[in-house]
Amino acid sequence: MSARYLLRLDDACAGMDDRRWSRIERLFDELAIRPIVAIVPDNRDPELNHGEPLDDFWARAWGWQEKGWTIALHGYQHIMHPVALTTPQYLPFHDRSEFVGLSLAEQAGKIRQGLAVMQHHGVSPSLWVAPAHSFDKVTVEALLRETNIRTVSDGIARNPYFEDGVHWLPQALWSLTKKSGGLWTVCLHPSTMGDAEYDRLEAQLRGAFASRITSVDRLVLHTRPRSVSDRIEAFRFWQRHRVGRGKLWLKQRLGR
Ligand SMILES: [Zn+2]
Repeated sequence: MSARYLLRLDDACAGMDDRRWSRIERLFDELAIRPIVAIVPDNRDPELNHGEPLDDFWARAWGWQEKGWTIALHGYQHIMHPVALTTPQYLPFHDRSEFVGLSLAEQAGKIRQGLAVMQHHGVSPSLWVAPAHSFDKVTVEALLRETNIRTVSDGIARNPYFEDGVHWLPQALWSLTKKSGGLWTVCLHPSTMGDAEYDRLEAQLRGAFASRITSVDRLVLHTRPRSVSDRIEAFRFWQRHRVGRGKLWLKQRLGR
């Protein structure tokens, strides 16, 4: 197994589950893991609130930055509008988006405001993570115009690639899975991570994956386009995804 892995913690905001986030932070500190942390600058999504808002959230975020964690701008308010799955976007996972389909002025405005909130608190994002993986070419144009961010954590591929003026660090896993090669980002949601899922992650990080975890600052990124093996990976991924969604749809119909 020569694969390398990045870990990504999503939906950091004042309403996050303090106990669960602290637990994973202690583990990462002990194992010297520096993850990507995707911060919602001005969260208005009630689903991301898991208790009383933390008074010290921005001090915590600043602390992550000081420890060398990679800070990602995770949209602006995490409020989604409905989007047809046929609407052009990079990664059609969901039928909702904070960005897709909006004008350049609207998308640039959200990105500008989100960035301003983070900078006000002394936190500088170097990566883009779209809520619900949902963004389009206009979002990238807005990022290039409004920020110094030139790297996106998303995309289905085996290795990082360069497209539409930004580097893409592929994100196609939601739990640590053995791969023969490539760079894989594992997306985790600490606030909703059950004890069993956490225990499994801890065992993997102490065991088989101990020497395989890397961090964004250790990567050397090239402006190479997607390779044939990247395209094959993406083709297989979306095929599996469609079959999975079809099965779910059928189950819901039959279950009624
Ligand atoms: Zn999110």
